[in-house]
Amino acid sequence: MMMKVVIATHNKDKLKELKKGLSNLDIELLDLSSFPDIGEIIEDGETLKENAFIKAREVHKLTGLPAIADDTGLEVDALGGKPGVYTARFAGENCSYLDNVNKMLKVMKNIEDSNRSAIFKTIMAFVDDKTELFSIGEVKGMIASEKKGLGGFGYDSIFYVVEEGKTFAEMTIEKKNIISHRGMAIKNLMPVLTSYIKSSNINKETA
Ligand code: IMP
Repeated sequence: MMMKVVIATHNKDKLKELKKGLSNLDIELLDLSSFPDIGEIIEDGETLKENAFIKAREVHKLTGLPAIADDTGLEVDALGGKPGVYTARFAGENCSYLDNVNKMLKVMKNIEDSNRSAIFKTIMAFVDDKTELFSIGEVKGMIASEKKGLGGFGYDSIFYVVEEGKTFAEMTIEKKNIISHRGMAIKNLMPVLTSYIKSSNINKETA
């Protein structure tokens, strides 16, 4: 029987990218819409890794199924690596994507092009009752001086990837998924997760 895995996020934008990215795995992907009683999970970890595991462990505990969660941060060099783990709340509690983008444009207003480098980082965590796995994905870029493009979400309209000559918001979801932090984290998790799934299927068959 195919292993069922729950994607532990309420964020519809992330869910879309994760579903596409994980679709090659030999697993049945569920999301939190199948578990309406699960509310927001408090992400009070001090690192992306802690937060990714808080979400994956909690959803595993509540559903009894293996769970995958990601946590993402934007590290801007001119801001000493901030907002990092506070990326979602950069403009304050309950702020919108647009509030965050506008705040970033404001604080970076007088920063020269040569000092606008940034890294998007994702930690992807997998948790079931026997194991915990994780992977890291990173992409380098620059904070653009104005919004460009209509696709994506979050900071996509101001995250400019030099090699592509585009912001994430100007790319298709397929292209973004190949080069993005989340795409790289999925790619890096794939081999470990695939061999884990295979070995747990073998164990089941021989049990
Ligand atoms: P989270 O804590 O992993 O949910 O993500 C933190 C914040 O990072 C989100 O609220 C978004 O603003 C931003 N974010 C996460 N992933 C992306 C992305 O792929 N593109 C742009 N912004 C993102």
